[in-house]
Formats: sequence, C-alpha cells, structure tokens
Amino acid sequence: MMGQMMSMPLLISSLIQHAARHSGNTEIVSKRCEGDLHRTTWSEVVRRARQLAQALDRLGLAAGDRVGTLAWNGHRHLEIYYGVSGSARVCHTINPRLFPEQIAWIANDAQDAALCFDLTFLPLVEKIGPQLTTVRHFILMTDRAHMPAQTTLPGLLCFDDLLAAEDGHYVWPEFDEHTASTLCYTSGTTGHPKGAVYSHRSTVLHAYAAALPDAMACSRRDVILPVVPMFHVNAWGLPYAMAIVGSKVVFPGPHLDGKSLYELFESEQVTFSAGVPTVWLGLLNYVATNALRFSSFKRTVIGGSACPPAMLRTLMDDYGVEVIHAWGMTELSPLGTLSKLGSDELKLPLAEQRHLLEKQGKAIYGIDMTIVDDQRRELPWDGRSAGNLVVRGPWVIDSYFGQTASPLVPVSGQDGRDAGLWFPTGDVATIDAAGFMQITDRSKDVIKSGGEWISSIELENIAMAHPGVHEAAVIAVAHPKWDERPLLVVVPKPGVTLTRDEVLAFYEGKIAKWQVPDDVVVVAEIPHTATGKMLKLKLREQFRGHRLPGC
Ligand code: ADP
Repeated sequence: MMGQMMSMPLLISSLIQHAARHSGNTEIVSKRCEGDLHRTTWSEVVRRARQLAQALDRLGLAAGDRVGTLAWNGHRHLEIYYGVSGSARVCHTINPRLFPEQIAWIANDAQDAALCFDLTFLPLVEKIGPQLTTVRHFILMTDRAHMPAQTTLPGLLCFDDLLAAEDGHYVWPEFDEHTASTLCYTSGTTGHPKGAVYSHRSTVLHAYAAALPDAMACSRRDVILPVVPMFHVNAWGLPYAMAIVGSKVVFPGPHLDGKSLYELFESEQVTFSAGVPTVWLGLLNYVATNALRFSSFKRTVIGGSACPPAMLRTLMDDYGVEVIHAWGMTELSPLGTLSKLGSDELKLPLAEQRHLLEKQGKAIYGIDMTIVDDQRRELPWDGRSAGNLVVRGPWVIDSYFGQTASPLVPVSGQDGRDAGLWFPTGDVATIDAAGFMQITDRSKDVIKSGGEWISSIELENIAMAHPGVHEAAVIAVAHPKWDERPLLVVVPKPGVTLTRDEVLAFYEGKIAKWQVPDDVVVVAEIPHTATGKMLKLKLREQFRGHRLPGC
C-alpha cells in the first residue's frame, strides 16, 4: 500500500519562495568588496534571483550547465545560489584561495559554461581566462559604475546590468528533486580535488537538519553572520537554512579580520555565527587586546578542524558565547555531527559537560555513522576504541563528479554480518556509548609510535591551552627505534618567547609520558590550506630531516 500524500519535489527554489513570502521584509546586509554596506531584503533577493534565471536563459545556458563562482559572502552570491540552482543549472562555487592553476583546472574539469566573480578577483580571472576552455560568459558581480574601463576578458558582462534588463516574471521550473543543484570540489588537502555533486533533495534535507535545535538552532529571531565562506561547502548549508527560518542575514564580504568582524557583529547585533577555528583566533585576539565585549553574540558553530578546548573555554566563560563544535566534510554537504548537551548530560558535573562539548558530537538525524577496524569490522562504541569513521545518509556522496569508481566500502557488524556500503571519511575517531564522536586524527596525521597511536589533535589541544601559544601543530617525525615520534610546531603569541623545556613541561600530568612530544620548534607561521586547515603535508616536508633530541 502506498502513501497518499502530495508528491512535491524538494527543490531549492521552494526555500527562497518561502523566505520571500514569510520573511520578505527581513534584511540581508552585505559588506561588499566595493567598500559599501549594502542593505536588501529576502523578497528583493528572490526578485533578483528570478531576473538572473531569465538572464541565463537569454545567454543560452541550458539546464544542467555549470555556473562557476569566485566570490565572497554577499547578496549577489546568494542571488546566484538561488537563481542558478532554482533554474535547474548547477551552481559551482570555487575557492578563490587556491592557486590560479588549481582554479583553472577545477573550472575546466567542471566544464563551467559561465563564471561569475567579485571585483577582487578580476586580476585573477584575467590571468587564468585564456586557460578556461569551456567558459563562454565572464560576469563581473558588480554595478555599471565599477566596471573596468579595459579588460582582457572577452565580452565581460556586468551582473547588475544583466539583471536590470529582465522583468523578473519568471516561474521556477518543477523537476526531479534528484537533479544536480550544486558542485563543490574538495580542497585537495589529501590529493587531487574531487567534485561532490549535491542534489536539490540532499540540499533541502541537509538544510532542514542544519536548522534543528540540536544542530545550529537557526531561528527567525536570529541575526546570522556566516563567516564560513560560501565557497567552502556552501557555507555549511547556512544560505539554505537561513531561508527556511527567514532570519536576518549579515554577510562580511572579504572583511574577515578581527576588527572588521567585531564591528559588524556589534553594528548589526549578530546573534549567531559559524566558522573555522583560525577565524575565531583573529577575532578573539582583537577583542582581548582592546578589552571589548560582545553585546548580542550568543552562539557559534566551530568546525572544519578541531576546536581547541582553550578557545571553547574563552568564548563560553569569558564572553558568554555558546560554542557548538561540529564535524563534517565536503562529501557530507558538510554537516555530520554537532556537540550539544541533552537533559541527561546537563546533570553531569561541569568538567564532564565541558569534556563532551569538546568532542565533535552526536550525529544529526540523516547521518548514520560508525567506526571500523582495518578489516572494516565495526568497533564498539566505548569511547576508547579508535577506528576509521564511516558514514552514510541522504546527503552523503555516492560517487564523485565525472568518476565511475565508487568510493564506498563494505562494512561488517561486530557479529560479522554484512552492514552494507558506507563512505570512508579518512578520519580516525572514538564513539562513546551515548553516541558522542571524537575525532582523534585524520588517518594520514596519526602518529604511529612503537605500535601505539598518538593523537596529534590531543597534543595540539594541550599546547593551545598554554597562555603563550597562538597556534600549534603536531606532526610525525621518523624515529629509528619507535618508527615515528611527535614533533610540536608552535607559533607564539605576539611578544612572547617560548622555550622547548617550558612548553614540554606544560604537558606534565596532562597526558601519558610516552605521548609527550619529543621536541618543539618555534616558527613565525604555520601554513594553512585554502579552507583554513593546518597544512600538515607541508609541515611534514619542511621537518622531514628534523633530528629529534637523542637520535
Ligand atoms: P578536505 O577534505 O578537502 O580537506 P573538507 O573541508 O571536506 O576538505 O575537510 C573535511 C575534514 O576536515 C574532515 O574529514 C576532518 O578531517 C576535518 N574536520 C572537519 N571538522 C573537524 C572537527 N570539528 N574536528 C576535527 N577535524 C575536523
């Protein structure tokens, strides 16, 4: 017997229609690269998204054609998200922080038919333009007044002019919810970038889950400032979740330094934000140096790499900002787990509550996860057994763009029974009996010392609690007896001098003696990937020949 409910496809256009109808007058504020602070509304954004869809029709872009973007967080980028996907084309966000050659490679691999970009990236696009073999239309995301007098790009179009030429009377088409909506490449931290192709259905379901109270808890009462870029896994789904709830939105554009962010948080009375730990380092430094307070900021999601417990403590205890630690990846749209306490956990002593909040948290409904050993047999959820984290669900990829080989792996239960196909995340984790997951490492970053595994994240978290440490990375260095031993690389806070012995003494009593790093190197800077993760591959290369004391 079949259900007898309406069959309405879950389409991205329905999100923006809902926002326009029910929160039409709610503001979308953008600090733009042109230098101004721009104000618009959800209903205005949907009108311009419709005009964009008409303009793309006029330019001859077919359903399924990819439209690339090289852009900051701003209202025009939001209009592209909806205008492109809503009209059955595929919105392909490209990370502008990648090397120009990588950007060209990705745009060609995706076969982008058009490329929309912010003024900031005009020189970059002019440079790589000749290498872009499939792009037929270059669209500068600005108004007529900011168009360059001269450019090497053939037929450069002005975004605002394109929209102004259309009447906006456009009906969003209805189609299969499994149609591709968005394309996003992994950052290539661990290999060649690969494209994850999200569908309308996966995006809408992910947005629903992201907005839930035990996830990001987005509401119409919130003022949301996504610090996480819209070119980094769709700003973790916020552009869609914000439309579902119809919140006020504040976009920071390229202005991501501590001062600019603080001023925008205060002037627009931001309540909720999300970003990677490195951004909060900058903001917290600015706030601490100038002895400032937040007057409206209530909670933030921190993910993308491990949130150091010291950062969690500072935000929660010193500034009263709730920290929601989250884990995810490009292949998961990206949300997998978030750490929030339930009524049982809230009865625990404060130290135990904190310990749980420091973990990456519980899976949101829609994500099924477990840990397996090297034979892909499920490991117990005891909070101690560390294994390879595997996931499955309606917003987890099934295959990569343009690739036929499946990334999925068969998993068997603890009893040896077939448990189906799962996506291997490449992360190593523990899961406790209540379902709280904790990432101990990326499988490539684990330090294998004398047959035992040492968690680089745990060692980094301890170093980050040292008052003189700004940033810390732990990498494996070859050792004649133990195979590998941990080396700690630290960046001191401004004006602080750190010594090896002093930093190592800080580990005493916090961890087993054999896990304490063998050596400490003080550096001015730790290299980061285009998505703000520490570039351990580069650090490992840099310190390959490092001689540990006693070797
Ligand atoms: P890429 O895989 O190309 O580096 P992603 O942005 O998809 O880019 O990164 C996903 C990875 O980031 C995860 O597999 C995990 O290793 C790491 N990660 C994400 N969030 C966290 C977190 N809260 N704690 C630790 N690691 C995290």
